[in-house]
Amino acid sequence: MFRKVMSATIVGVNCISVQVEADVRNGLPGFSMVGYLSSRVREAQERVCTALRNSGFSFPAKHITVNLSPADVKKDGTGFDLPIAAALLSALGYLDFACLENVCMAGELSLSGEVKGIRGILPIVDRAVKEKCRLCIIPKENAKEVEMIDGIPILAVENMREFTDYAGLKNWGAERNPGKKWEEENYESEWDFCEIAGQEAAKEAAVIAAAGFHNLLMIGTKGSGKTMIAKSIPGIFPCLSKEEAMEISGIYSAAGLLSQEKPLIKIRPFRTPHHTISPKALAGGGQMPRPGEITLAHKGILFLDELPEFSRSTLEVLRQPLEEHKICISRVSGNFQFPADFLFIAAMNACPCGYYPDRNKCSCSDTEVAKYMGKISGPILDRFDLCTEMKQVPKEKIWKKKKGKTTCELREMVKETHEIQKDRYKGKGVSFNGRLQGKEIEKYCQTSREGEKLLQRAYEKMHLSVRAYHKILKTARTIADLEKSEKIEVSHISKAMSFRALDKKDW
Ligand SMILES: [Zn+2]
Repeated sequence: MFRKVMSATIVGVNCISVQVEADVRNGLPGFSMVGYLSSRVREAQERVCTALRNSGFSFPAKHITVNLSPADVKKDGTGFDLPIAAALLSALGYLDFACLENVCMAGELSLSGEVKGIRGILPIVDRAVKEKCRLCIIPKENAKEVEMIDGIPILAVENMREFTDYAGLKNWGAERNPGKKWEEENYESEWDFCEIAGQEAAKEAAVIAAAGFHNLLMIGTKGSGKTMIAKSIPGIFPCLSKEEAMEISGIYSAAGLLSQEKPLIKIRPFRTPHHTISPKALAGGGQMPRPGEITLAHKGILFLDELPEFSRSTLEVLRQPLEEHKICISRVSGNFQFPADFLFIAAMNACPCGYYPDRNKCSCSDTEVAKYMGKISGPILDRFDLCTEMKQVPKEKIWKKKKGKTTCELREMVKETHEIQKDRYKGKGVSFNGRLQGKEIEKYCQTSREGEKLLQRAYEKMHLSVRAYHKILKTARTIADLEKSEKIEVSHISKAMSFRALDKKDW
């Protein structure tokens, strides 16, 4: 007898539907599984048979074939245990076929028949909603992850016995998942922006970066507060919307990074990989590719401290995603595309000892300083819209604390600027000023005659590249938006130019 059950699996960070078919017939007793399976899926055979026996179901000596389709996608993970068990129970006559129709399920089985949690349940249920399934059956361990999903009844089960008990009820006794109400959550940073003494220019650069998604590089002396500012930036971003949180949580779920304690990602990701990170861990990879740091930073911030300490090959990985906001990985098992739309923030000292340009403390030679800066390739430096220099704050300034804007006030400003951009780029496929390209820059970043003159002069005098020229315009657009000015004025251009420390110096 032949039976099929619906399931789904994670491929990269996406989810595809999978049909699990089981066929039981007379013949030489045996069990075979087909359908381009990884060894982990193959092991399901042992787990399922033992789990069913231990749950009190007897197995006749017959020939069993299990097929997972589509056959051209490599399947991995342990989530197929439950649908295989269900298909078998149905083929053996323990379950009525009608109750499995249009029901999607996933879960791992233990030998005793318990249904255990798996990674990626959020995208799997999301897939089931899109496929218009009438019910989704998941492990109880994963129940918290899907609390926010509405539009489908979700049944969370603990073991196989419970599973078959529910199957006897009308429509599995399940009701529509109401979808828990979304509550915004603020990022709690260690410091409030008003507590950071001095460094007004760097703080301003941080606000511009957050307001228009402009990549920011902070160069400065040891102890000037670079890390402190970087760590405070997530706090001035507006809270995640439900849609954003679901998208990010889907990625984390596929990566197996959600737990019962942390079933959803509710605050903007802030990833700070150490400089010893490998290119693979940054970009994502593996035989069945898992998302790397740049994908885990999607819609959030990737902060690289001590930028020159990262190996060149690691940094080169960033080139494509910084341009295209996604990363493509090719493997034997297929081509994978991961989202990687993040704000890139980096910090570095200007010399190996960390005290340059303070010549009283720094003993590095000019060549050493130049070599240190040269560690980062031009194409990577080219990706920064904003570059700010930071010197150590004199003691008097720290004590004479000038109260600046609080994180909360800045967040409001950034939020308003995001809304201005949302209105302007509605239906244009652009979300932020920092993401404008080519013709769009000419269209949306028009400046006054004086502004144009100033830019022209700078272009000739500072020998700006076209790319740098465009970056100044885009940054000026955000500065104007922060001031709610429709037109880009001279003051906006000159401020944008003040954040081009990289062009002014020949490091
Ligand atoms: Zn030095």
